[in-house]
Amino acid sequence: MIRKLLKRIPSPFSRPAHRRTTPAIIPASQHSLKRSQISRNAVTVVERLQQAGYQAFAVGGCVRDLLLDLDPKDYDVATSATPEQVRATFRNSRLIGRRFKLAHVFFGREIIEVATFRAGHADDRDASQGREQSLQSESGRLLRDNVYGSLEEDAQRRDFTINALYYDVCKGTIHDYVNGVQDIRNARVRLIGNPVQRYQEDPVRMLRAIRFAAKLDFEIEPHTAAPITELADLLHDIPAARLFDEVLKLLLGGQGERTFDLLLEYDLFAPLFPDTDEAIDERPDYTLQLIRQALRNTDQRISEGRPVTPAFLFAALLWPALPQRTRELEQQGIPQIPAQQQAAHELLAEQCRHTAIPKRFTLPLREIWDMQPRLERRNGRRADQLLEHPRFRAAYDFLLLREAAGEQTDGLGDWWTQYQDANPELRRRMVQQLSNGDAARKRSRAPRKRKPRSGAAQ
Ligand code: ATP
Ligand code: MG
Repeated sequence: MIRKLLKRIPSPFSRPAHRRTTPAIIPASQHSLKRSQISRNAVTVVERLQQAGYQAFAVGGCVRDLLLDLDPKDYDVATSATPEQVRATFRNSRLIGRRFKLAHVFFGREIIEVATFRAGHADDRDASQGREQSLQSESGRLLRDNVYGSLEEDAQRRDFTINALYYDVCKGTIHDYVNGVQDIRNARVRLIGNPVQRYQEDPVRMLRAIRFAAKLDFEIEPHTAAPITELADLLHDIPAARLFDEVLKLLLGGQGERTFDLLLEYDLFAPLFPDTDEAIDERPDYTLQLIRQALRNTDQRISEGRPVTPAFLFAALLWPALPQRTRELEQQGIPQIPAQQQAAHELLAEQCRHTAIPKRFTLPLREIWDMQPRLERRNGRRADQLLEHPRFRAAYDFLLLREAAGEQTDGLGDWWTQYQDANPELRRRMVQQLSNGDAARKRSRAPRKRKPRSGAAQ
């Protein structure tokens, strides 16, 4: 009761998200969402749960995206039914997760994720608590993740107001407890509750704020934006596997370049890619140019529906950090080639402590890197052999990327562009010319008496 009363009194920390200005239940006549826009399977799940006597809604990203005329990635349903009750309602369902139990309902290739309303517990937290205590809270959170709650409690425990909208596909109403519809109209990403506290509960929300701002072209509301830079280092406590997944969503979501700029602006890039961040400090023009170009190409491919691989993107993100590590090893007396190999190995191992890149991506990434010096050696049969290498195309694209960022390669990219299109005769001549060039260079390097240089350039 006291808590209820307290909730009505705006605290100095509470955001306007608590002060609802529109009615909580928005009738169909006052919003643009149509039942026909929702996946038929999601509609079926909501209807069947409601027929069985439970509350059920389409929720989260799908409602947000449809209100913005975007195509939802997938559909989530929130319900008052427990996972076991959902399981009992749908033969085509399975329970997943241990600490955080959910039901998946299968329709061919489409999976509708059904989550039971849960209560948040933000009020139990003291935002100023120290690290050890927050670790305790961390385990507290995990233990309490399956505390079920009401619809309104479920709305409050979600991250952003725009993600806390519930669409009743049967009645056509939207339940909005946090002014999410208004924030969608005003293009704002706003955390529900006290931002510092919500970021401390789950620092990944900082990355999510950036992701939604970039994806939707929304502004991050000032109170939601303000603590991010200060709290960015909290990301170091997040398991590297989860951060890898988040980085994929951030940079391979179709707005990679814009997202990257926001990550830099909010100091969130350094905890994800510390070595690359140092490279940005050292050689800003080259490093930024290389990464932005890689992301621009990726965004372009995604917009054309062409496939993209995380291996290529990570190869680009980490490439500018290689020379520094190589130099350090060379200074320890290791020759150049093994130094490069070892630097690549160490850099990837270090990066995996921050974002756990699976082997299926680190292996092709290494191949792309290792092929860069090999693309220079084209004599004899080598050029044709390289052309047949399964990773040739990626390695060639990577070479062009390096050149676009200003690396000097003596026209190597152009040579390979021409070679790929050439007929066998022209190819033979191109390789021949290389040998001639080599011979000429060797001759010019042959020992000869040097004339003493004249002029000022001594
Ligand atoms: P998209 O799927 O388009 O990336 P989404 O909003 O559906 O966006 P999901 O990661 O699929 O994002 O999460 C589904 C919903 O779960 C979100 O809309 C939000 O309500 C809630 N949610 C997800 N992650 C968090 C989090 N870290 N803290 C609080 N709520 C979250
Ligand atoms: Mg989703």
